[in-house]
Amino acid sequence: MKRLLFLVLLLLLSFKGISQDTYLHCGKVIDTKNGDVLKEKTVIVSGNKIIAVENGYINPESSGDVVVDLKDKTVMPGLIDMHVHIEHETNPNRYLEKFTLNDADIAFNAQKFAKATLLAGFTTVRDLGGTGINISLRNAINADKVDGPRIFTSGKSLATTGGHADPTNGRRKDLIGDPGPKEGVVNSVDDAKKAVRQRYKNGADCIKITATGGVLSVAKSGTNPQFTIEEIKAICETAKDYGMHVAAHAHGDEGMKRAILGGVKTIEHGTLMSEETMELMKQYNAYYVPTITAGKEVEQKAKIKGFYPEIVVPKALAIGPQIQNTFALAYKKGVGIAFGTDAGVFKHGDNAKEFGYMVQSGMPAMEAIQSATVTNALILEKEEELGQIYPGFIADIIATTEDPTKNIATMEDVVFVMKEGKIYKD
Ligand SMILES: [Zn+2]
Repeated sequence: MKRLLFLVLLLLLSFKGISQDTYLHCGKVIDTKNGDVLKEKTVIVSGNKIIAVENGYINPESSGDVVVDLKDKTVMPGLIDMHVHIEHETNPNRYLEKFTLNDADIAFNAQKFAKATLLAGFTTVRDLGGTGINISLRNAINADKVDGPRIFTSGKSLATTGGHADPTNGRRKDLIGDPGPKEGVVNSVDDAKKAVRQRYKNGADCIKITATGGVLSVAKSGTNPQFTIEEIKAICETAKDYGMHVAAHAHGDEGMKRAILGGVKTIEHGTLMSEETMELMKQYNAYYVPTITAGKEVEQKAKIKGFYPEIVVPKALAIGPQIQNTFALAYKKGVGIAFGTDAGVFKHGDNAKEFGYMVQSGMPAMEAIQSATVTNALILEKEEELGQIYPGFIADIIATTEDPTKNIATMEDVVFVMKEGKIYKD
């Protein structure tokens, strides 16, 4: 029946002269919805959509159609990373760059990072904080002007004065100024509402708050709570009015608790999450975005003298190695896990390293892949379009050389990338 329907559709399309469909002959296909590995399938793509998944290897009847041989590959939906910073990438001059780079420089860099991300198999990302150039980049990618993943962006993160995402932290007195809600710094319930509305006006898709101190900011504490619960509630309620969800950066437990009670959708890093807070996450249906890779990276870089400012080093050494342990416990306790890496804190394109760390911590490979596909699609409210290889879904499709349920490291070796029906890597 399905095949008949498909043939009728094909006939209609060829009458219209649109045609040129793509037939992917897939040795294995990961069914992310059911957690199965299917064998010998043909995935048929027309325009930007998957129109059929058939048993066996089917050849097109129209000579204009294209066949892609992935018979010795494992095919799966394009991956989704819920935590990247697409504008920047770690390097020893990172702190100086805030004073040396023009917006155009950042934009060109971001374009390069976006391409590296896409070619690594990540066809969708959530950008959790930059200057706002991330919004222009999203638009340019959507308009097919540059290559990159589909971006859901928070624009500029929200912080409190001196908080983790206060843009003038660590500067000398005459450069500190007094940034306000427009710049993403809030100090009251009213500021909080204004800051969210400003992000909406700027074109953000979601809101990011820094609920506690952070590792890489030039400030003493990496874990203290930085918003009142009233401020967080105001942010979440206002965001909801504008159709946006809220992501909360949090290392310390108190700030994390306030964020969950205040209504955020995801907790980023979650380093010192207590068992009580894990229960709270389940109760409030909040998801944990672990970013283990970033933790490992900052710990390693902190050991290189001069890579980070002095004030950052002890924070990186303390927080970095803890994230993986917290992830292992949270997974065991049944907290909802959303795949996210904090790429930008490490090299863009290395996002898939996170899979190995997740599996090492006790999460089965299939579940790790599901967290990066169906779970993340659900959080983004795109569960009917993204994260599955199924008729009607957007044709974001990647392939690895090996079966990742047998060797998770193969996720770092993506050999085929299609986004919205267009092949970027073959
Ligand atoms: Zn981050």
